[in-house]
Amino acid sequence: MQLMKKNYNFLGKPNNFANREKTQSFFPNKNIVQPLQVHGKKIVKIGNKNSNEKFEADGVWTQEKNIMLSIKTADCIGLLFYNEKEDIIAAVHAGWRGLAQKISTEFLSQFPEKIRKNFHVFLSPSLQKCCSQFSDPYNETPDFFHKYIEKREEKFFIDLSEICEQELMNCGIKKENIHNNKICTKCSENWWSHRNGEKERNLSWIEMI
Ligand SMILES: [Zn+2]
Repeated sequence: MQLMKKNYNFLGKPNNFANREKTQSFFPNKNIVQPLQVHGKKIVKIGNKNSNEKFEADGVWTQEKNIMLSIKTADCIGLLFYNEKEDIIAAVHAGWRGLAQKISTEFLSQFPEKIRKNFHVFLSPSLQKCCSQFSDPYNETPDFFHKYIEKREEKFFIDLSEICEQELMNCGIKKENIHNNKICTKCSENWWSHRNGEKERNLSWIEMI
C-alpha cells in the first residue's frame, strides 16, 4: 500500500473558524468536513460520498485522500490522529464532557491493538490546569477525573490535558506518539477562549494528499 502524505495544523487568532462557511472561505479549494459538534461521543466515518453533508458528531475519520477533516474548539481539545501504517486520519473534539464519555476510546476501540499502536495523536491548544477551574468537580465530573483535581487557594482545577493523554495510553497509544504542546487557550493571547467570553473558534485540521 502506498502511504499518503498527511498534512495537519492548528489555527487560532486572528482568524475565526466558528462554522464551516468561515473555514471554507479560509481554504477555498479544500473539500472540508466540519461536523456540527454537540459535546457527545459520536464519530462518523467519511467517504467521498458524504463529505459535504451536514451532520451532528464530535469526531470524523477517513481513509480517503483530499478530504480536510476539521474540528473547531475554544478551550476544548482538538485531537488529530493519523496512523503511520494504515492511511487513517481523524479529527476529534473533546471538552471535559467528551473526556467524561471517553470519545477517544470510542474512536480507537473499533481497531485491533496492532493498528491502534501505530497512531500518532496531536493535541491542540486547550484549557490547561493553570485555568481549568471547576466549582464543584467532585460532584460535576466522573470519579476517574478526581485524581487529576488540584486545589489551589480554595479553588479546584482539573488537569484535562493529562486525562486526555492517559485515555490515549489506555487505548494502546505510545507515549512518544502523543504530541501535546500544553498551550493554554485562556492565558495565551494567540488562541480563542470560551472562558474569556470569546465567540470565535480555533481550528484543528488534518488531511491526506
Ligand atoms: Zn492557563
